[in-house]
Amino acid sequence: MFNIKPSKHLGQNFLIDRNIVKKVIKAANLKSTDIILEIGPGLGALTKELVKKVKQVIAYEKDPRMCQILKKSLKNYKNIEIVNGDVLKFEIIKLFKNLKLKIINYKVVSNLPFYITAPIIRKFLEAKNSPKEMVLLVQKEVAQRICARPPDMNLLAISVQFYAKPEIISYVSKKSFWPIPKVDSAIIKIVPQKKYNVNKDLFFKIVKAGFSQPRKQLANNLSKMLKLNKQEISSLLLKNNIKPTLRAEALTIKDWILLTKVLK
Ligand code: SAM
Repeated sequence: MFNIKPSKHLGQNFLIDRNIVKKVIKAANLKSTDIILEIGPGLGALTKELVKKVKQVIAYEKDPRMCQILKKSLKNYKNIEIVNGDVLKFEIIKLFKNLKLKIINYKVVSNLPFYITAPIIRKFLEAKNSPKEMVLLVQKEVAQRICARPPDMNLLAISVQFYAKPEIISYVSKKSFWPIPKVDSAIIKIVPQKKYNVNKDLFFKIVKAGFSQPRKQLANNLSKMLKLNKQEISSLLLKNNIKPTLRAEALTIKDWILLTKVLK
């Protein structure tokens, strides 16, 4: 279609549906003062709209072929920096410094390469300079897992919701992409929140212990994985209004925060 062979290995499924481009752009609620970091601009379906609407676009792309195409097709725009590199390897602060941009208040917009969705989201949420918000196209099932609520929580949902509020904006048919992927997608918006005042490492240690065998009761998992007496852990849970017989998937983020504080 574009006289180019898409790389499966790089998760190249290009957006070809104009309506979905419009929906992503609308969800990002763009202002003329915005600085946008686009991950994986590919052939520029989103980039071409972004450059018209914001102050500055940084398009970070691993495939040098795409960078070349973009440099040509966007040569008339002065507000775009096309950077060739691996998004998982760059340092956010360094990137902005090199481009002489202030790092405050940037947004991430991306039709993410599916094979590294979770590590990319984690990278930006855990960063010291996290974005103001992220508008992302991800696989539908991943979007649902990220936005899950109790009693259907999972580790991915907790690792996003610990830092941010995720929301599904719209579902997207797999026919909106070329080549057509195996599964449908969704547009999600992730807005980082004020950080919880809790030891992050301990929080995730306890959450992972709780989910170690997701079908098993919370008290069993916690006592086994954290090497604590089961009776003690059960009474501690009860004291904090958490039934020891629950499964980890039924707990709210606030429950896990409470547990981190009392297990300290
Ligand atoms: N934004 C384009 C669109 O919507 O049509 C392309 C999206 S495609 C799903 C994902 C893009 O991410 C591809 O262009 C691919 O080359 C790029 N990519 C894959 N892995 C990457 C990485 N580690 N760092 C930066 N870009 C990457």
